[in-house]
Amino acid sequence: MPRQDPKARARNFNEVALGYTHDMALQEANRCIQCPKRPCADGCPVNVDIPEFIKAIRDNDMAESVRIMKGKNALPGICGRVCPQETQCEEVCTLSKKGAPIAIGRLERYVADWEREHSAELATSPNLLPSTGKKVAVIGSGPAGLTCAADLVKFGHKVTIFEALHVAGGVLMYGIPEFRLPKAIVQGEVDYVKSLGVEVRLDSVMGKLATVDELLESNYDAVFLGTGAGLPMFLDIPGENFNGVYSANEFLTRVNLMKAYLFPEYDTPIKIGKKVAVVGGGNVAMDSARCALRLGADEVYIIYRRSRVEMPARHEEVENAEEEGIIFKLLTNPKRFIGNDQGWVTAMECYGMELGEPDASGRRRPIIKEGSEFTIEVDVAVVALGTTPNPLIPSTTKGLETRKNGTVMANEETGKTVKDRVWAGGDVVTGAATVISAMGAGKRAAASIDAHLKSTKS
Ligand SMILES: Cc1cc2nc3c(=O)[nH]c(=O)nc-3n(C[C@H](O)[C@H](O)[C@H](O)COP(=O)(O)OP(=O)(O)OC[C@H]3O[C@@H](n4cnc5c(N)ncnc54)[C@H](O)[C@@H]3O)c2cc1C
Ligand code: SF4
Repeated sequence: MPRQDPKARARNFNEVALGYTHDMALQEANRCIQCPKRPCADGCPVNVDIPEFIKAIRDNDMAESVRIMKGKNALPGICGRVCPQETQCEEVCTLSKKGAPIAIGRLERYVADWEREHSAELATSPNLLPSTGKKVAVIGSGPAGLTCAADLVKFGHKVTIFEALHVAGGVLMYGIPEFRLPKAIVQGEVDYVKSLGVEVRLDSVMGKLATVDELLESNYDAVFLGTGAGLPMFLDIPGENFNGVYSANEFLTRVNLMKAYLFPEYDTPIKIGKKVAVVGGGNVAMDSARCALRLGADEVYIIYRRSRVEMPARHEEVENAEEEGIIFKLLTNPKRFIGNDQGWVTAMECYGMELGEPDASGRRRPIIKEGSEFTIEVDVAVVALGTTPNPLIPSTTKGLETRKNGTVMANEETGKTVKDRVWAGGDVVTGAATVISAMGAGKRAAASIDAHLKSTKS
């Protein structure tokens, strides 16, 4: 797929990947052999009818392709851009055994973008079942909440999403940067969910505005918790409180949601300086590093304690970061931050690491190399180590069970928690995971809530 030139894109926030042309999409769709067993569709957590939507592209019937896609996935423009297809549908595509799998994600993006450009001529009205008179409160408007809400209104229930922030979309809005996922795409898909009849109430911190029990006692028949995992984890090493050491959450929220990248049009303070170190090896670390580069840093390092093979970030994003000039310091782990008299970070002392036997995560365990300490100068450090759920809802909801790490316990197949009439799904249950796994959980919970509501009298 065509992309912006690495030198140019390293200094702007425009989308990196430019999308297929119509001819490219047709050529790719024509490679699909329409396997009768459809392994690709089974590999998709929201069961998109993949061979069918590809066949419609091939038949030049784009309206039909949109209809098939939207039948299962309310957020295709988002999934087509950030979903890890390489470990889902594309991994099991029959063609991957012999060579390159069908680029399902890129075709999905093409269909979603085509729909946006042709919305005026497309009179797509989704199939909504007659009203059941039942009401569901969905807490959180990330991919889990949006998907659950979209399916529930289609089943005929009335749905209200309560969102703590002033915009809907969760991490898609405040975490993933504009150059990977333009906010207009997210807003367009949130608007689609609203057009189905879902009410979205912003600036509504549940657990404060009303508790889950109060929602259930008032007029909601069920509650879905899609509150994500928004609480950052830290290194817990000396100097982490120096100014200039950010959590990735704070850094990315300032850049994306509060639009520091449009300074001075948006008056969001953020320090960048010349040298920025980002600690971590996941998508969040790649996004933080690439944002720092775009905000003007001269050198940006990724500090990761294992080797490249163990990096959890999407392969494509590691490659993009490398092309843009991010410097990878692998098998390296911070020991402490060093600061000046004014309390600002100036350097990081690090250990060199080596890899031992695999640990519980299945990845080879990093071990400190004795006497390997070295120091690198930094003006800013961003800690991107992962996140856990915010404890507000569990601490204000009687009868929810949580694990040690704060995640809510729920049945994997149905999303049902141990508390009566309460379901949960997405990062709040799994811990930080992926957009499509959150959407899959939202979909399964919607089916389970629907079955429950239809089995109970009003
Ligand atoms: C920087 C970054 C990059 C990522 N890149 C990728 C990627 O490339 N591909 C991928 O698949 N995944 C990626 N992920 C992970 C993915 O975004 C998450 O797994 C996904 O968004 C989880 O969805 P969710 O609906 O469970 O929660 P979230 O998206 O976190 O949404 C939860 C929402 O609930 C709201 N909320 C929380 N508490 C309350 C409350 N008490 N009351 C009301 N509202 C509340 C929050 O404000 C938020 O809007 C990335 C994550 C980050 C942070
Ligand atoms: S597995 Fe691959 S080739 Fe087969 S139908 Fe799916 S996308 Fe097409």
